Amino acid sequence: MNALTAFPHPVPIVADPETTGRPATDPTGAAIRFRAVSKAFAAKGGDPAVTALDAVTFDVPAGSITGIIGRSGAGKSTLLRTINGLDRPTSGAVEIDGTDVGSLDPAALRNLRRGIGMIFQHFNLLSSRTVFDNIALPLELSGTPRAEITARVDELIELVGLADKRGRYPVELSGGQKQRVGIARALATRPRILLSDEATSALDPETTHQILALLKRINALTGVTIVLITHEMHVIKEICDRVAVIEGGRIIEEGSVYEVFARPQAETTRTFVASVTGNALPREIAARLRREPAGAGEAVLRIVFTGEHATAPVISRLSRSLDIDINVLSGQVDAIGGQPFGNLIVSLPARRDVTDAVAAIAASHGLHTEVLGYVA
Ligand code: ADP
Ligand code: MG
Repeated sequence: MNALTAFPHPVPIVADPETTGRPATDPTGAAIRFRAVSKAFAAKGGDPAVTALDAVTFDVPAGSITGIIGRSGAGKSTLLRTINGLDRPTSGAVEIDGTDVGSLDPAALRNLRRGIGMIFQHFNLLSSRTVFDNIALPLELSGTPRAEITARVDELIELVGLADKRGRYPVELSGGQKQRVGIARALATRPRILLSDEATSALDPETTHQILALLKRINALTGVTIVLITHEMHVIKEICDRVAVIEGGRIIEEGSVYEVFARPQAETTRTFVASVTGNALPREIAARLRREPAGAGEAVLRIVFTGEHATAPVISRLSRSLDIDINVLSGQVDAIGGQPFGNLIVSLPARRDVTDAVAAIAASHGLHTEVLGYVA
């Protein structure tokens, strides 16, 4: 079966022009808009109040795979839960296709939730139901006729690659297979938005890779907007178009994955990026790194090359034209969003005229440079 036929057209989730007079699609192209969303949990027992979200503002483009990365307790799950109204903002608003989720009455909220699928770290399957019946559940709940359910579920089972597990129970499945059931169930009602809360965190690296590839394929086939939260930068690197970094309930950085990897601004973002791009300094250098030059020492530079640009000719040109020695300390070439992406960490004489000239020459080759610090 052609999987495209499984999702003929994206259907509007909330705004039906017939009844609301509003366009079903936000003219900005945003599927979800967070507008100064804050969420406080009140003090309870002896525990203090918590500000889980603090004025979160950003857009999730329709059809994108947008990642939200942060450490444990940063507010990721809370942010995700404001999208389907499981958590209500204390202030601010979440808009889906131009409609404020907080303004919906219970019936409209139920309708909204039918248009939003969700997958979880621990799959949340019903152990007493087979693969088929787990996937059928949301359709049963929405009163879909039996024949339609059967056709739809079989289509989904095919899509996620579980045709030989139709009658199996969750206990008979591997983690990756369970998550495939979770994904199929989340897609059953043809949602326009799919939310993923650490969906691969309980899986081994190879299975993680397969599940991420499946999500990417589903996004390409159906145009479903995917919002995934994770604490692992490699997940972002593997499938996301855009990324927002959350810390202490605030979005500290946001942009295209390529941009954020090439030019991470916040310290936390740098740490996340360094965890996967190999731009971490060799330990021995990191221990000696100073903010200011110390006499006749060396400057440590990061050179980022992206797209078609390559470093090799630049390094030799720099070395020749400035008549300096350049030591390569570490380097790695990678692909992000299908584009080549590399990091080179070098050291060279710590003179301002040298580092300025290096930055200028590198820039003329389309490369980004950054002085990480100085060693004596
Ligand atoms: P993450 O998913 O990034 O680990 P969460 O969104 O789950 O973070 O939690 C953010 C903060 O809000 C944490 O300090 C957490 O303890 C707190 N929190 C989350 N849910 C509740 C709740 N229902 N009641 C009180 N505090 C909560
Ligand atoms: Mg969480």
